[in-house]
Amino acid sequence: MTLARHNNSLSWNRWVLYFYWVLSAVVLVLTESIHLFGLYSKGWFAGPWFPAGYGSASFLMIFALLLAEALFRYLKLYFDFILIAMGLVYALIVMLTFGLEIQGLYIGLNLPVIVSLFYFSHSRLWFAAVLSLVSYFTLLAFVERLQNYVNVLDSIAVVGMITGTSLVGLFILKRGNELQQSLERAVHSEIEAFADAVATQNASKYDQLTGLYNHITYQEYLTALIQQHEAYHLPLQLAVIDIDNFKKINDNFGHHAGDIVLGEMGLLLTSSISTEDVAARYGGEEFVLLLTGKTLEQSHQLLEQIRQKLALTDFAAIEHQRVTISIGLMEYQSELGKDDLFKLADAFLYEAKRSGKNKVVSPLRGRQEDVSQNSQCS
Ligand code: GH3
Ligand code: MG
Ligand code: MG
Repeated sequence: MTLARHNNSLSWNRWVLYFYWVLSAVVLVLTESIHLFGLYSKGWFAGPWFPAGYGSASFLMIFALLLAEALFRYLKLYFDFILIAMGLVYALIVMLTFGLEIQGLYIGLNLPVIVSLFYFSHSRLWFAAVLSLVSYFTLLAFVERLQNYVNVLDSIAVVGMITGTSLVGLFILKRGNELQQSLERAVHSEIEAFADAVATQNASKYDQLTGLYNHITYQEYLTALIQQHEAYHLPLQLAVIDIDNFKKINDNFGHHAGDIVLGEMGLLLTSSISTEDVAARYGGEEFVLLLTGKTLEQSHQLLEQIRQKLALTDFAAIEHQRVTISIGLMEYQSELGKDDLFKLADAFLYEAKRSGKNKVVSPLRGRQEDVSQNSQCS
């Protein structure tokens, strides 16, 4: 927050310096015009303090500005206060060179307040207003010549001008802050809406218990992968996985323990497959894997590893009993259709169950050694 304000001030300092350069150029052109057209000799202006000519004003301004430019390189903090005070220096230069008796020039005492508005900050506005007022009264107290030119009404006008401008500045700050707050509220609610949309999307895409994709997402992926297969003939296999004797886990250790096993199963599947593969909870204690970019042999081997890994996993939630799975694996072939693919994989799963559970059955069955037998839960 502080850093943002600091950086912001830094860039605004540059702009304020440009503003002073433009102001100095305007004063230079004006004073040179006065010389050029001999307006001074016509008695329209008086500059008793700098009889050498009005050019002194812009000369002094540019000198002050060069000093400020030099400081700008080294002084990074509070430089904005210096630039606000520069407004007062400019006002004094103009008042003193053109003549204290030209009361219209006292309007320059507003310059610090106007410059402070660049920074959009209460502290800088207050600093500018107090600086201008204090300077005016100090001048009035110590510069005898000034006292000759101003009366009480003039002072009231100057004070009114500075406080009036400052009040307008305060109002601008108040409106600006209100706008900023409403902008922040709008951005905040937009972020909230985005977070809600992500949460809704996640809720509709994933299975809450296992963190895997849900049935709908699985169907969407299957359709997309089949289309990809038809277009590019990329190998695609579907594995249907069913936990063996899961009902007994629930019956013996409760549904909560059953849920823990399902969660572990989700972790095992996601950690075993590659990023191109898809793992989803089909429903209940049944899972599906969509395996891509592998031969049927490789996929069969991968499933065999998953099966063995689970069979060796120790579950504290079910008193260290072992859990096993049966898997049916089928490879997609052109024109098969997604329902047929599932039916065939499911038929292999059924075969695995019927032939003793805790095994992978695919069109390659017989090549793999059946590491049966049923889990200890059976
Ligand atoms: P098989 O070896 O033949 O697959 O037997 P099984 O007991 O695993 O099969 P069955 O279909 O008879 O039982 C599945 C059980 O899974 C029944 C149901 O209570 C349980 N189940 C389904 N969804 C959940 C769930 O989200 N949490 C828990 N804890 N149990 C569930
Ligand atoms: Mg089942
Ligand atoms: Mg089961």
